[in-house]
Amino acid sequence: MLELCWVLYREKQKERVVKNMLEKVEEFNMEKVIQEFETLTKDAGRVQRETLKRILEDNASAEYLQNLGLNGRTDPESFKACVPLVTHKELEPYIHRIIDGDTSSILTGKPITTMSLSSGTTQGKPKYLPWNDELFETTMQIYQTSFAYRNREFPIKNGKALSFIYSSKQFKTKGGVAAGTATTNVFRNSRYKREMKALQSQCCSPDEVIFGPDFFQSLYCHLLCGLIFHEEVQLVSSVFAHSIVHAFRTFEQVWEELCTDIKQGVLSSRITVPSIRAVMSKLLKPNPELANLIHAKCVGLSNWYGLIPELFPNAKYVYGIMTGSMEPYLKKMRHYAGELPLLTADYGSSEGWIAANVNPRLAPEFATYAVLPQIGYFEFIPLTQLENNDASSSFLSIDLNPVGLTEVKVGEEYEIVITNPAGLYRYRLGDVVKVMGFHNSSPELKFVRRSSLLLTINIDKNTEADLQLAVEAAGKVLAEEKLEVVDFTSHVDLSKEPGHYVIFWEINGEASEQVLGECCNCLDRSFVDAGYTSSRKVNCIGPLELRLVRRGTFQKILEHYLGLGATVSQYKTPRCVGPTNPTVLQILTDNVVKTYLSTAFN
Ligand code: AMP
Repeated sequence: MLELCWVLYREKQKERVVKNMLEKVEEFNMEKVIQEFETLTKDAGRVQRETLKRILEDNASAEYLQNLGLNGRTDPESFKACVPLVTHKELEPYIHRIIDGDTSSILTGKPITTMSLSSGTTQGKPKYLPWNDELFETTMQIYQTSFAYRNREFPIKNGKALSFIYSSKQFKTKGGVAAGTATTNVFRNSRYKREMKALQSQCCSPDEVIFGPDFFQSLYCHLLCGLIFHEEVQLVSSVFAHSIVHAFRTFEQVWEELCTDIKQGVLSSRITVPSIRAVMSKLLKPNPELANLIHAKCVGLSNWYGLIPELFPNAKYVYGIMTGSMEPYLKKMRHYAGELPLLTADYGSSEGWIAANVNPRLAPEFATYAVLPQIGYFEFIPLTQLENNDASSSFLSIDLNPVGLTEVKVGEEYEIVITNPAGLYRYRLGDVVKVMGFHNSSPELKFVRRSSLLLTINIDKNTEADLQLAVEAAGKVLAEEKLEVVDFTSHVDLSKEPGHYVIFWEINGEASEQVLGECCNCLDRSFVDAGYTSSRKVNCIGPLELRLVRRGTFQKILEHYLGLGATVSQYKTPRCVGPTNPTVLQILTDNVVKTYLSTAFN
């Protein structure tokens, strides 16, 4: 009897804890968050010094810092004098010791027990990066900050989010360290769901779908959940915009099957994962009315324009990272979103968050990100210092002289250097940003590109952004045939003299030979840097080659990365495929259906 009373008491206690938690959820105070951000950014210089001090004090016992002779000093000047700029390569020996199970204080005071696996689509293979509770904390801070500003402009209440999020598997390294992608580490944190509820962004899909082992099955069920809760969905989101476009392209293929499932209340036999089947069968009830409604809506649309608001009449906006390498998907997103606003999310990486979108009304093309001065210590290498160097080469780091957060100049471009609370000190992230202005005294950044040069043969230098512009220009030629580029990448072919650029395109239908030939010429003409055009004119660079690949090729590339441990949530199509990516190059080469050589400079 006593035992029963005790059990009941414990249950009551639990209920109370849950109730308190829920009350805390409702307590989220937007105005307070905005006020805090305003205060912090008004004094960004001081906040940066304090942040650095905190990071260095918390990690003073770390072997890495001990060896650098800081001797307890925490001011930016001593920090810069003692600690070198590094890239991931220099940290690898330390990171590998952690992965292999060395539990001493290597990079941080408190040993690292979890690693994030970056998507690795830029360098070809995923990188391990230390993860800890402080990084989760900064993740929540940035989510709350941008939510507060966003919700002021686009309020949502008691809503659900159709979030195309996918968790990768978390595994143990041979040294017993847990590893998964950064988004997985966030999704798996017990606080995540609660905090997202407070931000009105609770995913309408159950955990079994988010954490499912098969990407396609998860995607199918995300769509199904979205349709079941179609009236409650107030926003459609993903981490990177690519997942949203991918989801609705898939919807175009499977919508009739989804309607059948809803009509009959029986889940498609495609879904084979038992835990997903179990949870979905609880949600799915025969609902012919809803099935007919969706069917009628789909049939009524012209080429799927405005699909998102049609399916989710109460959606207020579409949300996800839409800048940088996501910009090529904007056109397709606008098509699906119709009149709904597209809001770009925040700016960060597996290495840590950097800046929030606090001007949500700006279209993604004009979006800026305001740096949160309390979540890391940030330095900026003026691009002019890197111009004559190979930007990714670290041995030249000693010649570089980054400036502090509040010393950057409007209109200038910089490479970002991060010091975070998880063991990265003066780490060159490899991103180039442009300072567009200031939010109080904290800079507002525009993401420009990854810093590594993409296409170069001799004196030509073309970046990811240049490639994007060229593809956009040639895409307009293709649009004359009512076709579009589904995805693209590039390669420098040096197998024959002279070397030349190769652009791989996947398009969504059959185009005439003439139009594709024109597209190829347009691509060649659209690389306008003087190094390229002058080399082309004298044939030091050969004619650009457009290689058309089979439908589904880029899906195969995505699957290849998933096999390496990446997650769709963080996936970015590699925009240049070189010797570090032999498998991807092979996938592309195996799927080429047609090739065109430019005659633009004949
Ligand atoms: P990952 O570590 O795989 O999550 O990739 C992080 C990288 O994604 C960053 O270093 C940027 O290059 C890119 N990225 C993240 N957020 C944004 C953003 N808001 N705009 C453009 N690119 C971004």
